[in-house]
Amino acid sequence: MRTPVIGIAVATDSSDRIRRGAAAIVILMGVLVLIGWRVGSDLLTRGWPGLIPMIPLTAVGFITGGLALALLGERAGRTPRRAGLALAGGLTLLGVTILAERTFGWNAGIDLILFPNAVRALPWLPPGRPAINSGFNFTVMGLALLLTNRATRRGRRPAEALAAFTVAVSFLAIVGYLYGVREFYSFSRFSGMALITAVGFALLGTGVLFARPRAGTMPVFVRGASSVLARRLLPSAVLLPVLLGWIWLSARRTELVTREVGVSVFVLIVVIVFVALVVRTADVVNRLGEERERLLVREQAARADAEAANRAKSEFLAAMSHELRTPLNAIVGYAELMEMGIHGPVTPAQQENLQRIRRSQRVLLALVNDVLNFAKLESGRLQYVIEDVPAHELVTGIEALVLPQLDAKRLSYELTCSEGDTIVRADHEKVRQIILNLLTNSIKFTEPGGRVTLSCHARDRAVLLRVVDSGIGIPADKLEAIFEPFVQVDRALTRSHGGAGLGLAISRDLARAMGGEVSVQSVLGEGSVFTLSLPRGASLSESVDRPSGESVNRKTPATASPDLTRVH
Ligand code: ADP
Repeated sequence: MRTPVIGIAVATDSSDRIRRGAAAIVILMGVLVLIGWRVGSDLLTRGWPGLIPMIPLTAVGFITGGLALALLGERAGRTPRRAGLALAGGLTLLGVTILAERTFGWNAGIDLILFPNAVRALPWLPPGRPAINSGFNFTVMGLALLLTNRATRRGRRPAEALAAFTVAVSFLAIVGYLYGVREFYSFSRFSGMALITAVGFALLGTGVLFARPRAGTMPVFVRGASSVLARRLLPSAVLLPVLLGWIWLSARRTELVTREVGVSVFVLIVVIVFVALVVRTADVVNRLGEERERLLVREQAARADAEAANRAKSEFLAAMSHELRTPLNAIVGYAELMEMGIHGPVTPAQQENLQRIRRSQRVLLALVNDVLNFAKLESGRLQYVIEDVPAHELVTGIEALVLPQLDAKRLSYELTCSEGDTIVRADHEKVRQIILNLLTNSIKFTEPGGRVTLSCHARDRAVLLRVVDSGIGIPADKLEAIFEPFVQVDRALTRSHGGAGLGLAISRDLARAMGGEVSVQSVLGEGSVFTLSLPRGASLSESVDRPSGESVNRKTPATASPDLTRVH
């Protein structure tokens, strides 16, 4: 089997290593050059005897730039980042000063601060002054480092463009050295960019490019399939032509070959290299395709496994809840028989305990029912009978189911359904289950003496059923989370009220399955508004186009009429 193509994942760690490595080498170069000036070593200041040396001021610039690059990492804290930016500012200032000196023949007095005697001995005019292209590069690199964290609204990174420019200028200088074209690295007779300076700038620019691998154009080189291609092809695409050009020039210089032979060999090699690159590209693309297919198969298998596990869990929950309900119902039955005194007289203390048993049984049964409903929903075994139902049919009579709780907490209850005859397309039973759940929650989470309202409104192509309470409210950061299964804002509070944190998850799932939605608005300490929106049915043409609120004043008896207003 062929080895998989590596590097599809984000190579951000390697990018950071490149940034840190580039910074370290650039700092080291600067330090070595300064030592070179101190001890008078040509090898350290020039890189190779006879070449242009890197002057001390340039070495200081590299140490500054390298430190800034080292400090401006992606995860840098505030202090290192500030220090990095300050150094980048210093580098820009240095670059601008060098440029100003060169352009206006001005002398800022910084050129000969370090090792003035050694530098003065150079056939260099003015002594100690870096080349104009170095001044330009320092300015650009300083700006690039200052802008490392900035991106335009379209996601472009200005630092990237500046760094790429510096790399290009340095590359030109390196090619100039390689091919002996002085104009590429020197703009005046007595000064020019040293080879080690050009290498330093190329490294600094590369470091800035890799400092933010997730932004701008860099993802092309570090993420996804494109990065595999780019990383494999780019080195050959850059280095091979340079190398071939060098070989050809060298061969010509020593008159080893005629011009025609040289060009022919050059063309031949270029063709071979291009064919090799095309074959390599095709191979990489091919292997990427194969790898993707393998991953897809693996993912499909994993998904099937997960789905099976989920089904098994739902089935287990459904079976368990079902089995639990039977003994629970028996408990309440026997408790009632005892309360009625069928098996002999019951003392007041026993009566009280029996009531406690019944209360606990009710809470437990509600929990088991929630779990059962949730399990059924999860396993997709729930059947929906979608039909056209007048809105008032969905809301009337529900209050009877919560009357004991309302009374127990002395809550006022109001039902307003101004658009009672509006048609809703939904499963009648499921809607009532949702409303009952919302109402039960409102009662649970409203202090005694508070207010609970149920209302219905028509809006465009939807009907909104709203449960409003003057309860404890919900913190803004929990408004979405409470719809997740088993999420409760205050577990201690809900423990005393009962509930497993499933009601809203079930309600939202049911609503969505009917093409609707449950949403919430709430102010902590003031109350909550839960809105169930459902698709509007179109069977009664009259109710489709009538603007909402038109029939607000039409009052008829509640039970017979679609327009309801009821106060408890
Ligand atoms: P349960 O009521 O069984 O805990 P739900 O899913 O119905 O589960 O509700 C989840 C949580 O949302 C509740 O525990 C409560 O913290 C919060 N909540 C729901 N309705 C209200 C409401 N009307 N007022 C304040 N908090 C509410």
